[in-house]
Amino acid sequence: MSALERRDAVIVGGGPAGSTLARALAAAGATVAVLDKRAFPRDKTCAGWITPAVVANLGLDLEDYRRGRVLQPIHGFRVARMGEAPVYNDHGATPVSYGIRRREFDHYLLQRSGAELRTATALGSLERAGGEWLVNGTLRTPLLVGAGGHFCPVARALGADLGRAESVVGAQEFEVRLSAGEAARSPVRGDTPQLYFSPDLAGYAWVVRKGDWLNVGIGRRGPRQLGEHFDRFLAHMVREGVLEQNVAGARRNGHAYLLYPHAARPLHADGALLIGDAAGLAYPESGEGIRPAVESALLAAEAIRACGGNYARQRLAGYAAAIEARYGARATRAGAVAQPGLPGLARQYAASLLMRTHWFTQQIVTRRWFLHEHVAPLRA
Ligand SMILES: Cc1cc2nc3c(=O)[nH]c(=O)nc-3n(C[C@H](O)[C@H](O)[C@H](O)COP(=O)(O)OP(=O)(O)OC[C@H]3O[C@@H](n4cnc5c(N)ncnc54)[C@H](O)[C@@H]3O)c2cc1C
Repeated sequence: MSALERRDAVIVGGGPAGSTLARALAAAGATVAVLDKRAFPRDKTCAGWITPAVVANLGLDLEDYRRGRVLQPIHGFRVARMGEAPVYNDHGATPVSYGIRRREFDHYLLQRSGAELRTATALGSLERAGGEWLVNGTLRTPLLVGAGGHFCPVARALGADLGRAESVVGAQEFEVRLSAGEAARSPVRGDTPQLYFSPDLAGYAWVVRKGDWLNVGIGRRGPRQLGEHFDRFLAHMVREGVLEQNVAGARRNGHAYLLYPHAARPLHADGALLIGDAAGLAYPESGEGIRPAVESALLAAEAIRACGGNYARQRLAGYAAAIEARYGARATRAGAVAQPGLPGLARQYAASLLMRTHWFTQQIVTRRWFLHEHVAPLRA
């Protein structure tokens, strides 16, 4: 039998949540192993849009990042209800967001984390013994972190009701590299993502260009008939000349995840924490999940430091308190499905009229719902 190796922390999942926490703990001198089932670089189903708050929270050096990677500054938006003419808003000379490719972004963050990386290694077995976790029969640790995204096995081990009982956002997207001819002909501008809200405001579709890459997708509360909604949207985009037929026919990827008001997963247990999508933290209005993933990792790092090596459930409660202080009270399991996420019914009619105005699309839709400019990052 091989000897068990000990680490101060084992993080399951090397996405933005896992790599951010790994970096913070490693910088503080902890021995940290990150397990990810995928070999990196790996694709991740995502539009690949990050706000300046993410850049600040990560302390990202954009000059270093853009070397050999796609970094598309965003200066404006085109916003519409599906079937109506988009409203164009110019947000000025300073970028209000960036387009990145998750394949590159996640790899960059994981590599710079300074942690021991065990990629292409899924979480297999998990046992609790003597106040520690035994992971895959090879590692022991007093602190296990679930950062494995929506279907994180640590969330399941902590009692999360993955699947049927949860009210999820269903999403589909594709990301394609345009040929030189397609890139030249495309009317989609890299500095101006396009957002199209469904008439019931239960979701929206997007067309985001990053250099020669085009990401097109749709997200809706509840995954029912998502494919049909996407079909209709793509057909509309082809009719409007926004997408060429062969681009619109690209192979799609699908995923589901939780918006914060619908998430009733536990945030902590004895010797364990959940961060990022594993905890269900995405912003309800936009579905942005990278910022909450990164911020939850920073809050977890602080809470872990405050524990002074004792990770009893009540000591780790500081993490749950910090999450609630920042994002609001957690849903209870009974209330999780009933709570509204995107704007409620009463506001839908007004919003549909307002969606035709510059004021609403710029001040509310983009600045408030999507950019969250009114909430300062945790790190300036
Ligand atoms: C279609 C779509 C578009 C989106 N667009 C945006 C956007 O533009 N901007 C934005 O901010 N958010 C967006 N989101 C949300 C965003 O992708 C997530 O919120 C974010 O990736 C969460 O980061 P994370 O680190 O918590 O999890 P993830 O990024 O999901 O990383 C989890 C990691 O855990 C690993 N893992 C899973 N299971 C195991 C296992 N058993 N063992 C070991 N490792 C495991 C996975 O391989 C993965 O690398 C989008 C989501 C979807 C579905």
